[in-house]
Formats: sequence, structure tokens, C-alpha cells
Amino acid sequence: MGGDGGVAPNLRRFIVTTKAADQSVRSSVGRDTAGRMLWSTCDLSKEPLRHPIVLCPLGFLFNKEAVLHCLMGKSLPAEYSYIRSLKDLRPAILTPNPAFDEARSDDATVPFECPITGAPANGVNRFVSLSCGHVISRKAVEQACSDASSQNACPVCSKPVLVDDTRIVNPVDDDLVSARKALELRRLSLAEKKKTSKKSVSTSDSSSQPKHGQVTRRWQKSPKSMMPRQMRPMPIGR
Ligand SMILES: [Zn+2]
Repeated sequence: MGGDGGVAPNLRRFIVTTKAADQSVRSSVGRDTAGRMLWSTCDLSKEPLRHPIVLCPLGFLFNKEAVLHCLMGKSLPAEYSYIRSLKDLRPAILTPNPAFDEARSDDATVPFECPITGAPANGVNRFVSLSCGHVISRKAVEQACSDASSQNACPVCSKPVLVDDTRIVNPVDDDLVSARKALELRRLSLAEKKKTSKKSVSTSDSSSQPKHGQVTRRWQKSPKSMMPRQMRPMPIGR
């Protein structure tokens, strides 16, 4: 479990090193370009993101079809080994940016934006995924949190939001480290819960049902006791 996310994809490492090398240009061209790549392509197939899009436990975006294909063929690269099944993924409901034109490669626009603030999802603005699946900017979350009436509800669909299950989308730097730690803790606590529930099941089993040994003994006994005695008539003397 230790190195849960495995080796970080090159693109992500590139962002990290860009920031480390030059803290003062946080939204430099390099970071911006890499951010736009992250927000427009499937992290696995590197194809353009197309619905249905899913989010992994670390916060990366994938075309559902691409992950499904790899899961079924057991060909998921080692760096994604933390994805064990489709259950580890959740839908990512992204809002298309109406200004985006896929045909224009020189276009500075990005495919998705925040449905609340209209901020572009370009790697410069932080975005989060809520437990309902909606992906919104962190600013929109902050706005929602400042309004007492809408706290803990998605500002798009009004569904209650599980705060513990809010993930930063396309995390970099400290956010990525935190995402890995959070995943590790979630899995540890799940394993602990499983252990506890197994123990309680076995305890209740032992009180209400015969012990394993008894069952075995009864089973061993019954064939003999049910077996009719050999009452063959004695051979009469010839
Ligand atoms: Zn929602």
C-alpha cells in the first residue's frame, strides 16, 4: 500500500518540477500548458476526454471506456495499480466550456469550466469533485460554504455532499501527496472495518450455532448410526 499511486505520470512530475524550479512563476507557460493537457486528455489513454468520464481515488480523469478496457484485460499499467475495480472510480460530471473549439489547436480555451463561476479548468484554477460527481472550482465551494443555507450541499444539484469524499481534481504538489495519504488512510480504515465485522460475525455464529467440532462429530456419527446392522441370516448348515 505504501507507494499507492506508484510512479507519477511524467506530465505530473513535469508540473511538480516546474513549480519547484521556479516558485515565482506559478502559472508559467509550462504549468499552464501541462494543466491544459491534464484537463483535456484521459490520463490513461492520452485520448481527448469524452463522456462518460470517471475520476480515480487520487483525482485523475479517465475516459471510462479506457479504464474498463484495461481492467477487463488486466493490463492496467503499474502506476494505476491502486485502481482495483470500477468501484474505485466515480463519475466526473464536467461542464463543457461553450467557447472551446476542438478544431483549433492554437486555441487557448479549455474544454471544461466551472458551472458556477465559469472559471476555466486549465490547471491554474483548483477544482474539486464532490461526492455527487459534479466537478466545480474550489472558489465555488468556498462561496457555497460561506452561505450557511447551502453548506454541505452541492451548489449544482443540491445533493448532500460528503465532505470526507471531496477530492481535488488533477492534484499536483502537496495536493497529490495529500490525496495519496487520504487514499491510504481510507483503505486502512476499510480493512479495519472488514476485520471487525468478520470478528463480530464469527462471535455471533459461535453463540447461535453448533460449534464446528460438534457439527463434524454429528456428521461423522450419523452415517454409522444410520447404517443398518448386518443382520444377514446365519448360513444354515448344509
Ligand atoms: Zn452535484
